[in-house]
Parts: sequence; structure tokens; C-alpha cells
Amino acid sequence: MKRYNSLEDVHQDIKAGLVTCRDLVNYYLKNIEQKKHLNAYLEVFAEEALAQAEVVDRKIAAGTAGRLAGMVVGIKDVLAYKDHSLQSSSKILDGFKSLYTATAVQRVLDEDAIIIGRQNCDEFAMGASNETSAFGPTLNDFDNTRVPGGSSGGSAVAVQADLCLASLGSDTGGSVRQPAAFCDIIGFKPTYSRISRYGLIAYASSFDQIGTLTRSVEDAALLLEIMAGADENDSTVSHKPVPSYTAELNNNRSYRIGYISDSMESEGLQPEIKDAMNNAIDRLRAEGHTVESVDFHYLDYIVPTYYILTTAEASSNLSRYDGVKFGYRSPDATDLVSMYKKTRAQGFGHEVQKRIMLGTFVLSADYYDAYYTKAQRVRRLIKEKTEELLSQYDFLITPTTPTTAFPLGGNDADPLAIYLADIFTVQASLSGVPAISVPAGYDNKGLSIGLQIITKPFAESQLFAFSKLVNETIVAV
Ligand code: GLN
Repeated sequence: MKRYNSLEDVHQDIKAGLVTCRDLVNYYLKNIEQKKHLNAYLEVFAEEALAQAEVVDRKIAAGTAGRLAGMVVGIKDVLAYKDHSLQSSSKILDGFKSLYTATAVQRVLDEDAIIIGRQNCDEFAMGASNETSAFGPTLNDFDNTRVPGGSSGGSAVAVQADLCLASLGSDTGGSVRQPAAFCDIIGFKPTYSRISRYGLIAYASSFDQIGTLTRSVEDAALLLEIMAGADENDSTVSHKPVPSYTAELNNNRSYRIGYISDSMESEGLQPEIKDAMNNAIDRLRAEGHTVESVDFHYLDYIVPTYYILTTAEASSNLSRYDGVKFGYRSPDATDLVSMYKKTRAQGFGHEVQKRIMLGTFVLSADYYDAYYTKAQRVRRLIKEKTEELLSQYDFLITPTTPTTAFPLGGNDADPLAIYLADIFTVQASLSGVPAISVPAGYDNKGLSIGLQIITKPFAESQLFAFSKLVNETIVAV
């Protein structure tokens, strides 16, 4: 069977009688089996997906199928799916099953998407390489000695290696955009509050958003259209009407685009990524867009600010895993306090423990103002400056990552180095604005490079339209 790059391609072949949902599920199941060594899935719902495919095939024949009929989807192991295991790639949730389905997952199911499995990720979505998973790393399909990025590494590789058509991931500081850049696919994070977080395991609640990993901008637009919007189970979700993103995909005009000059000069930026950026800038100008260099002097502050605030939120969010209510309980406990301590010491991996400690420290009475309050203030400055730039420009562009996919274990010697992998993605997360990573070329080893496009809150329509243009005509050589 051929490789499908968008749901539109699938629909054409379904209409022409060339393929059924059952064929599609069988095809992906075969690929998953052949590419087991990538460790992209923690669990495959083979029988269930085949049964669902038959239901959808009947609906197609009857003319009653939903908009996602024919879309075979994988979900990151942070999204609740009733009666299915949910572990956040952590031992502490051993044996836990979801009691309900996340709103976003329910909405794609209601449109007849077929969920094929649960995907590997960094433990509690903390990481940028998929190496913190309790179930071992996911491997990059292009080069198995390299990481796929993270935290949605399994979700990215599943799309890269044709183990599903699209994945649902989550992005707190870059977790869909960065692995998308490392796996040569499209990773999209919406405006904060655009998609309900009900049923998404919390990491840092003022940042977390569900996002998508796809092979086409059209599929990202369609999935957002279906998942976004008010939800009575999440009081923080926006009630703004959801536009028809797919209908507006061709509404392009000439744009004003800013590129952050500091990002291009930043130490540690791989030269080929800088070349790819310059190439994109030249092509955009040649297409008639205005592209100007802009100043954003907070680049050095965004990673520390992000890590102070997210670890603080994580230390509070993860306090619920204590051996009482969910999953794992240490068998070695002798009393209540030792049960808490042993459960948490044995259940959480090293990175998660480090972040809980960091977060607890920055929230402690003596240091609260010095770290947490200060970081809140810096977040405001970053947000205001980003909004000011976005009032002057339709889009800001940056590289998605400072390097291409690095070797497994490559950052073990310096545990802080990996935090710098987030340098370009966390600005949009701190500011709550939407951002996307689109493929932008290759380095001299053939490893993919991502271009990040950022826009104003709730301006996803123009973000998709422009990204489609960039993806099809500007960057693709
Ligand atoms: N790499 C970042 C972190 O470890 C981003 C993770 C994410 O977006 N979930 O926090």
C-alpha cells in the first residue's frame, strides 16, 4: 500500500474504492510490527482498531461517516482514553486505567477517527529526547542512533515511520514542535486555552496544550477544528467560536514577518540551521513578503524562566501521585509516611524527581520571591514583548531547534545542556501564543531541520494558511 500524506489523499482512495479503513488499520499494524525496535508505541490496540475500522467502513458505505473517517491516529501516553491504560511513561502509574476519555480524544472519536495505540514519551512529558521514559527511549527512524526529540517522541516517530497518519501529543515548552523538527513532520501547538485540557495529564497547567503531529498542514487544521472549543469540563478553555480553519487554508496575502536576530546569532546554533533560515528568508522575500530582523533581548532569560515556572507547577501537580489514589504503591512501606516516600522514590524516574525538588525549592517560603515571583514577572515581560512584536508583524519566525536530532545519550554528561534544546520553543509557551514547526531542509547528515512560525493568540487560521504556503512552495526545494 502507498504511504498517505494527508486525510484528503485517504479520502480520495476510499471514494475510488481503492482502500478501506480495515486495509488502512492492517497496513499500520504491519508497519508497527516491522518497526517494533523504534519503541514508538507502549501499547497497540490492534483488535479494537480493526473492529472500529469495520464500523467506520459500514458508516462510509451508508454515507453517515464523520469527518475523520479513515484517519488512523495514535495518542501520546498522557491522554485519557476510558478503560485504557494511562501511564505518562512512568512506573508510578503502573496498572492505572483511565476512568474517562479526554475531551479532545472524544471529539476525534466522535468524527470516526480510529485510535490505534498509546505512544511512548518522556516521563510526565518532561524531556526533549524521549530518554526519560520508564519504558526506554523511542528511536529516530531516520537514524536509530539518534533521538526523535521529546517529549512527544513516540508520537513524532509514529508519523515519521508511517505507523499512523496523525498523532495527538502535548506541548508544554515545545514537545510537539521539537520532535516534529527532528522527524521531518509538522508539529502544531495552539493558543493556550484553545483546546480543552480535560483528560490531559497535567505537567505545568499554565503552559500545557494538546497539539498535533501530522504530515500535512491540512490535517493539523482539521484536527484543531474538531478538537477546539468550549468544554464544560475545563473552566480555563476559551469560549471563542472555532473558525473553519480548513476553509481558510488558501486565504494568503503578503505578510509582514519578523525574524528574531538574536536567535540567528545565538551561540550553539548549528550552521546548517542558520543557512536553512537564511534560505527561507530569501524565498519569502522573493515571494513578495516583507521580512525584517527584530530585536528580542530576552532570549537568555526564557529557558530559566520556563524551568522555574514549570517545575513549580509540576511539583504541585505531581503531588497527587503518593501511592494512595493512583497506580503504583511501594510494597516496602511500613507506615503511611514511608509509603509516600518509597512510592515516590521508586515510582518516579530521575528527571521527574529532580524537577519536583527544583519546583519545591523555588516555591519554598524563603525562596519564593527570589525565584517564583521573579520568574512570573519575567514571564510577563516576555509575553508583553512578544505581543508587541506580533502587533507589528503577522508572524515571527525562528529555527525550531538549535541543532538537528542529537545522538542518544549525547547530553548525559551535562544535564543542563538538554534544557537549551528548548531555547526557541519556550517563548510561545511562556506567551501562550500558537506556533508550528514545518520542515525546512536538511543538514549535511541528512537530518531534518524545522522552521518555527509563531503568531498572535487565536490567529490559527492565518498560521495554517501561511504554513501551508511555506511547506509547499517556499522551503521545499
Ligand atoms: N523539553 C521541555 C521540558 O522538558 C518541553 C517539554 C514539553 O513541552 N512537555 O519541559
